[in-house]
Amino acid sequence: MASTKVKAIVIRAANVKDKDKLLHLYSLEQGKMVVSMRGVRGDKAKLKSAKEIFCFGEFIIETTKNANIVTSVSIIDSFYDLSKNIEKYYEACAILDIVDKVVKEPDPQLFITIIKALETLCYEDVKKFYVIDKFLLDIFSAMGCSFITDKCSSCGATLGSRYLNLDIGELVCPACKTSSCIAVSDACYSALRILSSTPYDKHTSLKLGGMGEAQAFNLLSKNYEWRTGYTLIKLI
Ligand SMILES: [Zn+2]
Repeated sequence: MASTKVKAIVIRAANVKDKDKLLHLYSLEQGKMVVSMRGVRGDKAKLKSAKEIFCFGEFIIETTKNANIVTSVSIIDSFYDLSKNIEKYYEACAILDIVDKVVKEPDPQLFITIIKALETLCYEDVKKFYVIDKFLLDIFSAMGCSFITDKCSSCGATLGSRYLNLDIGELVCPACKTSSCIAVSDACYSALRILSSTPYDKHTSLKLGGMGEAQAFNLLSKNYEWRTGYTLIKLI
């Protein structure tokens, strides 16, 4: 049996058989992995605290002919406090759902981003949707379509009025606008720029306010749908 040690977070968990769990992990070293935890739903199971979503830890995995079996977990953080605030819990679930659906490859930078986003939601007093907004900006940037720029992505002109071209996920000028473009107001762009340039651990002091804040979330959600074909899970 080959044994592997990875730092990973549980992004999806399903009950199987009587007492087992099938976990989908996103790991720092190998990206996504599907692993089994045997007998872990029993009351006395040694690894039971590591079987739920959000559990972040160091997993030891034995690979047999038929399965990857978790034999030991050293928990770094279970982000338990997320379960005490339903709004934050859903926002954090949306982050895991995005990782589950659209992230394909190992990406150490993105792994760190996921942990920072969850830490901020769990432990900081942040305004609703700021973390998911920033996480979406980070995901688009990882996909190669950052839209924090002063230049039109089609002609290179300096942007006065801005439109998001949903076909390419980038900003264009009025002259390059197509039928797949939606207007981005100055307030919205300003909110996006501030979210993008403010690290997660500084979000506590952030207050955007006004129309820009709501428009930013709507624009990012729409861009996510167009880029990936998925909708964000419903936030409350
Ligand atoms: Zn242009």
